[in-house]
Amino acid sequence: KNVQELERLETVSENPGTGRSRILVFVRLRPLAKKEKEAGSRCCVRILNRRDVYLTEFTHENDYLRLKRLRGRHFTFDASFPDNATQQDVYLTTTAELVEAVLQGRNGSVFCYGATGAGKTYTMLGTVENPGVMVLAIKDLFTKIRQRSSDGNHAVHLSYLEVYNETVRDLLSPGRPLVLREDKQGIVAAGLTQYRAYSTDEVMALLQQGNLNRTTEPTRVNETSSRSHAILQVVVEYRVKDASMNVVNRVGKLSLIDLAGSERALATDQRTLRSLEGANINRSLLALSSCINALVEGKKHIPYRNSKLTQLLKDSLGGACNTVMIANISPSNLSFGETQNTLHWADRAKEIRTKACEVNEELQQVPESETDQAKLLLELQKENR
Ligand code: ADP
Ligand code: MG
Repeated sequence: KNVQELERLETVSENPGTGRSRILVFVRLRPLAKKEKEAGSRCCVRILNRRDVYLTEFTHENDYLRLKRLRGRHFTFDASFPDNATQQDVYLTTTAELVEAVLQGRNGSVFCYGATGAGKTYTMLGTVENPGVMVLAIKDLFTKIRQRSSDGNHAVHLSYLEVYNETVRDLLSPGRPLVLREDKQGIVAAGLTQYRAYSTDEVMALLQQGNLNRTTEPTRVNETSSRSHAILQVVVEYRVKDASMNVVNRVGKLSLIDLAGSERALATDQRTLRSLEGANINRSLLALSSCINALVEGKKHIPYRNSKLTQLLKDSLGGACNTVMIANISPSNLSFGETQNTLHWADRAKEIRTKACEVNEELQQVPESETDQAKLLLELQKENR
């Protein structure tokens, strides 16, 4: 069964970066934390062949490791990262291809899914010493743009937003909640800051500041909330000449999403949590799981409207977009239930079929000469400031 599954994965994931028709799913195991070691926990996850994940359950504290051959305890993904995988390794395997696609005017999105403490924010944002996917993607993007053109033709804009308690907020300029609107490009948050980025250096600081703006749990003052979803959008816009020498505007959008903790609200230590908040976190993640179910089952109606999160993810999940899911897990047997739950959803996400990813291209007023074209580019740059 396993061999068949690998073959199936191989055939559908060919033609990378363009006509892919399903979500790529990766798993990342984090190292055992000091706290977990001190609590006497043991490792219940093994990763083999860079692909297979074995989850084992200890029936008793001192039991020998028992490989139970129950259904759903052995999983295969597009790649699985052991606890010593580097940030660069994770970036190159999961996201580098999408950056290339975005530079061709396509859309892509990467989302991290998993329980609180499983390593989502580490994977997405990382630290100053070990920057994560968000920073590495932008760095790579700037390098590739520099290799391609020196004329300043490419404009890069960033926006960073949060969904918390069914409210959408701008993390780059915190203030009043944003309203979601549907326009021809899909669902957009009206009034969201579009920050024009010129270099990587400023981006890490910007994102860290943005992360500090994420909603904090009242009782855990130093921690960003496990109930907030953070979405970074990177939009690359440039002009090219097509085969018939018309100038066309191309726009590629990369969305990088750090989802809220997938654990059930009741399973946390926040018994005092306001019920509204608990209900809403369930609402967003429940909506996400019902959308995944509906997409897998090939249903006509996908219930995106059920939550803000699923509205924002609409074009990533079912639309014309290259989508990557990274499922983050802890190795500790104390997190067995959460890990099993995460792997279950990751396994299911492999079945989602997406539409072919097209180039977003719009014809421009045709400039007659090179000077006209240069003027046009200057205008574009001005507009973007
Ligand atoms: P989440 O965002 O899923 O709640 P975090 O990313 O905050 O979890 O990770 C929890 C802790 O584990 C953090 O202290 C983080 O630095 C650490 N951590 C997570 N993944 C790794 C990893 N791959 N290598 C080293 N430390 C990690
Ligand atoms: Mg986090």
